[in-house]
Amino acid sequence: MKYSPHDPIAWMTSELAALAEQDLHRQLRTHEGPQQVRLQQAGRELINFGSNDYLGLAADPRLAEAMTRAAREEGCGAGASPLLTGHGTAHRRLEQRLAEFEGTEAALVFSSGFAANTGAIAALAGEGDAIYSDQKNHASMIDGCRLSRAAVHIYPHLDVAALAEMLTAGAGYRRRLIITESIFSMDGDLAPLVELAALAERFDCMLLVDEAHATGVVGPRGRGLCEALEVEHRVPIRVGTLSKALGSSGGFVCGSQSLVDWLVNRARSYVFSTGLAPPVCAAAEAALEIVAREPHRREQLARAAAALRATLHEQGWQTLGSASHIIPLLAGEPERALSLSAALLEQGLLVPAIRPPSVPQSQSLLRISLSHAHTSEMVGQLTAALARLAT
Ligand SMILES: *Cc1c(COP(=O)(O)O)cnc(C)c1O
Repeated sequence: MKYSPHDPIAWMTSELAALAEQDLHRQLRTHEGPQQVRLQQAGRELINFGSNDYLGLAADPRLAEAMTRAAREEGCGAGASPLLTGHGTAHRRLEQRLAEFEGTEAALVFSSGFAANTGAIAALAGEGDAIYSDQKNHASMIDGCRLSRAAVHIYPHLDVAALAEMLTAGAGYRRRLIITESIFSMDGDLAPLVELAALAERFDCMLLVDEAHATGVVGPRGRGLCEALEVEHRVPIRVGTLSKALGSSGGFVCGSQSLVDWLVNRARSYVFSTGLAPPVCAAAEAALEIVAREPHRREQLARAAAALRATLHEQGWQTLGSASHIIPLLAGEPERALSLSAALLEQGLLVPAIRPPSVPQSQSLLRISLSHAHTSEMVGQLTAALARLAT
């Protein structure tokens, strides 16, 4: 197609060039075949340390089987938004199974974790309310804040004392909401959930915890960090995703029946978006079954992650506050993160560089995400390569 000489989007070309100039131009790299720890990319086999498929379920044949059966029996698409005709038995079964898994009264499934956060946060707080948000919270939580029209107060990362001061100073709002990730997606560090729950109680605030990187991975039953820290009963709003450790796609909120009823009525990303595809629901349900029956996956992952963190420390890498299967290596400027990532790629190791806007400019990272499916040989290859690159 040939556009007219007057091209109103020509500015993009120069903006993209400016991004490239700053090492910030990002490009898609397409892989062939399934997303798994051995990844085919441009005809090469790479060991993949850049996936959130923490339990190795995305390519599990049991999920594929559940999907295929659901596609035959319940169709491929939901066909409508949930309040019209887009809520079928596949959705109801998954929501019941999720509530059971999480030990909550109810759960609600969204088309993505992103949609769960934007929808829930904007439904929980509005004009005249205030949201207190950790400085490193995920983009979907930031966007939820913006959509809510509530006053937004950002507290320094993990800093409960600073948050307490802000809560003391900020009376006079109608309702207040504290939001945090549990395991932070870039740094792999853990939110102080016990202290946050205590603050929420002391200041009569709602508390929302996003377990995107913890669902299926931590806690005695794999429910997440709230379970591991025994604060589930003190966290009234829990968000999770089906797209990471659960190997499928979609997001959810769990809590009381009133919470779910409220979201069904007021969460715009739920009300105005087509329900999840039934096969996707079925795959998530199968994944929950595996999480329940195969605790060794998360237990082995936790042990492997602790060992890898120890080795990387010995090599002199700064891993920020990581205490999980997400292990960042501080690289500094974007250019250094890119060159480290490229050096690893040459050796067949895929470790993504994380640059602004995901992190501040001088804190560009290599982000290692470890999966249950990585063998100790694969991890050994990574640490051998990193030993050579450590300064
Ligand atoms: C990935 C992520 C989400 C979004 O989940 P999707 O299902 O991928 O849309 C939400 N919150 C956090 C903290 C995440 O890392």
